[in-house]
Amino acid sequence: MKPSGLRYFETYNERCLAELETAHDAGKSIAGVYCIFAPAELIRAAGAIPVGLCGKKQAPIARAEEELPANLCPLIKSSYGYAVSDTCPYFAASDFIVGETTCDGKKKMFELLGRIKPLHMIHLPYLLDGVHALDFWYSEFLRFRDFLKDHTGIPVTDDALLEQIQISNRLRKAFVKLMAHYRQGRLKLAGSELLVLMETKGFVVNPETYIRQLEDLNTELDGIPSGIESAKPRILLTGTPVGKGSDKVLKILESAGAQVLVQENCSGIKSLYYPIDETLAADSPMKALAKRYLELPCACMSPNPNRYHLLERMIGDYRIQGVVDLTWQCCHTYNIESYPLLKWIDTRFGIPTLHLETDYSESDIGQLQTRIEAFLELI
Ligand code: SF4
Ligand code: SF4
Repeated sequence: MKPSGLRYFETYNERCLAELETAHDAGKSIAGVYCIFAPAELIRAAGAIPVGLCGKKQAPIARAEEELPANLCPLIKSSYGYAVSDTCPYFAASDFIVGETTCDGKKKMFELLGRIKPLHMIHLPYLLDGVHALDFWYSEFLRFRDFLKDHTGIPVTDDALLEQIQISNRLRKAFVKLMAHYRQGRLKLAGSELLVLMETKGFVVNPETYIRQLEDLNTELDGIPSGIESAKPRILLTGTPVGKGSDKVLKILESAGAQVLVQENCSGIKSLYYPIDETLAADSPMKALAKRYLELPCACMSPNPNRYHLLERMIGDYRIQGVVDLTWQCCHTYNIESYPLLKWIDTRFGIPTLHLETDYSESDIGQLQTRIEAFLELI
């Protein structure tokens, strides 16, 4: 039997837009965001609500290709298509949008989106180490803070930011605990069902209510004995983000008999395993925020050691038997990073790996099935 606490998350989408409209009518600004590098804590401390606008469906891509090149990442085309066809209620509800210079396609697409909505671009230093990288990133967060004040009318105070940091750390902690329940077999969901639950974290209107529901679900799961381990191969999915509508690889893996136990990507646990240092935040919340966000292991960072560190931890914690690295077509950073990464996994863990490059269409389903079935036979 499913835990009753799941109901809140299963029906989340039905309520979310209405809650957002109520908050908007009450004077809250809505900030459309496209990436986990956009600091939600800063947005909330300025009295706004961040909502995720990444396109995950094929449908808006044809409209996007009227203006964008066809040989572009489907995530960028889908996001743009939603905006220009006015078919995404969350884009329509956004008072302003927040872009970031993570990859070339995205940053140029944001320039076009800036013709539709007020846009703020956060520029990334791409480098993890070195004082100058952190200084630059910190200065970008200060610039974003000024933009937020200009658009919400609410100046961000250190106290408000510290409070939001503590709240988002609680949310991360609750999700990490939920993932532990999932790993231990107390939460019996397919990986594609867990993805739907995880996606709700991009649309949190009222963080306190949302976290309480997560914590209640965890408490309910605490009382369930850990499950008998499934005989299915335990797979980790890494690479570019997926979502409902762009989850064909996940679904093919599951229908071929695998268990996608964890997703180390932006739609999975990547943003959850990096809490913000609250001791540093008590002293300087802006500095703590900048430091943490620079640590996110996206392939746009060069080099990108934290992706290796996170994968090492995930492969061990989840006793992973095979790794699938998914790259959206034309995503050069993830595509190039795949080769050294999978070689390292092979040498370090001796488990099978598979690199898949695809888009949102159904055209290669048969080919993907064949490659995935052959991969699972190696486990
Ligand atoms: S993969 Fe990189 S660019 Fe894409 S959403 Fe994640 S952090 Fe942002
Ligand atoms: S998947 Fe790659 S190309 Fe697409 S938006 Fe993310 S970083 Fe850019």
